[in-house]
Amino acid sequence: MATLRVVEIFDSLQGEGYWTGVAMTFVRLAGCNAPALGLECVRWCDTPDSWEPGAGEEMDVDAIMRCVHLPRLCLTGGEPLLQVDGVVEVVEKAHRQGTRVHLETNGTLEPPTPPVSGPGRLEGARTSFDWVVVSPKPPAYFVDPGWQGLVDELKVVIDERVDVAAAAAERLAAAHPGALVSIQPEYGAGRTSVDRAVALVMSHPEWRLSLQIHKLLGVR
Ligand code: SF4
Repeated sequence: MATLRVVEIFDSLQGEGYWTGVAMTFVRLAGCNAPALGLECVRWCDTPDSWEPGAGEEMDVDAIMRCVHLPRLCLTGGEPLLQVDGVVEVVEKAHRQGTRVHLETNGTLEPPTPPVSGPGRLEGARTSFDWVVVSPKPPAYFVDPGWQGLVDELKVVIDERVDVAAAAAERLAAAHPGALVSIQPEYGAGRTSVDRAVALVMSHPEWRLSLQIHKLLGVR
């Protein structure tokens, strides 16, 4: 059985994107490749305690799943796919007990190869996961080509470089036509970011605004 470095496990409401307001168990995994890749999200990252690969504690898959009591768990980080072998085992175990698995990734790493079939796997699912959120990061907003056709939701944060972020959102939406697009003003980035995010959604009615409601509500 695989073990994973886990920074924290907690129950809360999903604060962002399509599933906003839905109760989930969050499993935050250790390690992030953004600093090494020079990604600019390190400037506004709200989980820098997850960057170190040795952060948190070592847990095996069974121990993780004993902490999951809600119908959905969200694998987040850091960059969860740095621990891809353990992630795949978590997904398999979760599906065996009827738990849906969401993945939040920066998209820089290739997706794990999905099992051809598996107990509890959603009918017609294209990946091992039940919901995949790819949140590409500046400056390049790179998404590994392996994610083509597998992304359920693209989350683009509109930071203070609003023109660059807006152009990236347009390009990414065109490259992933099946994905829901969530436009999220960077929390605390100021009025310009909020105004541009709203304007972007108004000019793309099929997109939606994502607010970090957990921060607005003061919950975890
Ligand atoms: S990829 Fe995510 S966890 Fe890593 S630095 Fe960027 S925002 Fe933070």
